[in-house]
Amino acid sequence: MTEQAPDASLFPRDALIISAATTGSWPTKAQNPNVPTTPEEIAQAAVACGEAGAAIVHIHVRDDVEKVTCDPARYARVRELVEAAGSDVVINMSTGGGAGTSGDEERMAPVALSPEIASFDCGSLNFGERVFVNSPSFLRELAVRMKQHGVKPEIECFEPGHVWNALRLIDEGLLEPPFWFQFVLGVRGGSPPEVKQLLHLVEMLPAGAHWSVCGIGRAQLPLGMAAMAMGGHVRTGLEDNIWYRKGELAQSNAQLVARVARIAAELGRPLATPEQVRALLGLRGAGAGRSAPAATAPV
Ligand code: ZN
Repeated sequence: MTEQAPDASLFPRDALIISAATTGSWPTKAQNPNVPTTPEEIAQAAVACGEAGAAIVHIHVRDDVEKVTCDPARYARVRELVEAAGSDVVINMSTGGGAGTSGDEERMAPVALSPEIASFDCGSLNFGERVFVNSPSFLRELAVRMKQHGVKPEIECFEPGHVWNALRLIDEGLLEPPFWFQFVLGVRGGSPPEVKQLLHLVEMLPAGAHWSVCGIGRAQLPLGMAAMAMGGHVRTGLEDNIWYRKGELAQSNAQLVARVARIAAELGRPLATPEQVRALLGLRGAGAGRSAPAATAPV
């Protein structure tokens, strides 16, 4: 394994981690023509988001007709293109598999690529008109595989019960510090996108956990601003919101990142770099884990 030992002292005080969720499982070009869906477009968006201030890029991949897929070859292609472009942005691969549309084994496939971070959806919920199942046995298996491959779980919590699930997995030793939580607020079936919900979720966290928030749709910016004021971190991007403002589609993921970066500057929150995030979370070193997946782990 090639993880670095975490070293929070290398992370500047008050620094803000911006994650860009570029594609997601559902937005289509018919809804917003700027949603990147091919590996080339997704990589290009990742690089542009890095240049605009994002330290982490959360990616999903699509097939040739824009349908969500868990195909590891496509994930690998995106990473390869991002690295070839010279970007050192941290890549976070989704294991969500389209929230209720992919099998458990399929969803875990990207973990074998040893991404620095992968999403860990920490419980089941209604998800719009679907049911997103993350059973206890699936979560335990996913946690084990992430450990084997040196992947930091992004513990995604859609409601308080998911934080409680995480605390149980922490007690069982399946999730280890430093913890990186992502609160997803505003999915129909999860917690409503309200600041008081966010406060409650943050209060439930284990000491020293790091956290970020993404609000769905029009909640994206206000919840991001609340998180910035509270000392948390922010996710933006077309996965969660295809609009720039009411009636105006976002022109790109980078446009949304740049807006968060401008607000952060006004609030006195310097932007964290990918290297600083690697130090804080103890991620696989740049160039090390990325190009050398753990050979010993079962797939
Ligand atoms: Zn996602």
